Amino acid sequence: MKLLVPVKRVVDYNVKVRVKSDGSAVETAGVKMSMNPFDEIATEEAIRLKEKGVATEIIAISAGIAACQETIRTALAMGADRGILVETDVALEPLAVAKILKAIVEKEGIDLVILGKQAIDDDMNATGQMLAALLGWPQGTFASKIEIADGTATITREVDGGLETIALKLPAIVTADLRLNEPRYASLPNIMKARKKTIDTIKPADLGVDPAPRLTTIKVSEPPSRKAGIKVADVAALIDKLRNEAKVIS
Ligand code: AMP
Repeated sequence: MKLLVPVKRVVDYNVKVRVKSDGSAVETAGVKMSMNPFDEIATEEAIRLKEKGVATEIIAISAGIAACQETIRTALAMGADRGILVETDVALEPLAVAKILKAIVEKEGIDLVILGKQAIDDDMNATGQMLAALLGWPQGTFASKIEIADGTATITREVDGGLETIALKLPAIVTADLRLNEPRYASLPNIMKARKKTIDTIKPADLGVDPAPRLTTIKVSEPPSRKAGIKVADVAALIDKLRNEAKVIS
């Protein structure tokens, strides 16, 4: 069984994001970039499926600028077998990424795609769903557990107020939620080994995909800054403020 894991290069989750002075986008120049955390979880799950003998090959794919190679290398150091960089300077939207992934799925004969549930930069939460629609494949989104047997993926999903278990006939699309697993750190020997693994570089046009954006960003702005707090003299003053100013108690 061949697995595809799409990994996106995003601003590291520890970085406090800043908006560019012209309000056009988030500043990425000189900012630490990392693999999208949900994609680390997806990669970990793919590796565990290979360790269990369920998967035979894991391909990590990233679409974007040349530096996305680093993100693919991280996936290779964790345990993916080989990588594909679909290189473009165009700012990619989920539909363009889904079209790219569809072309790769068909070219490589993929049986299961495990994506992150969402990329923490644009918070789209759309690529996996769009890919499932384009391929006409079943999808299990927000997975907190994946079991594969007899050509079926049994997915436990985190839904409002509980868990839902669904059975998908393979080939299928799964998106990883936070509680699916705890991703491993790449060990130094594995980082060294990953340097020898192959990353093929292609362009969207090689796949017949036009990645041109369809959305226009009108403005990006920072949230209003929080006002400074105050110190109250005693409990009575606190209760008075909660009751009469904040009006959160009666
Ligand atoms: P999104 O729909 O943008 O929130 O992204 C959901 C998931 O799609 C991510 O967690 C990745 O697994 C995948 N994805 C989105 N954009 C890219 C990209 N440029 N390259 C590789 N994977 C991506």
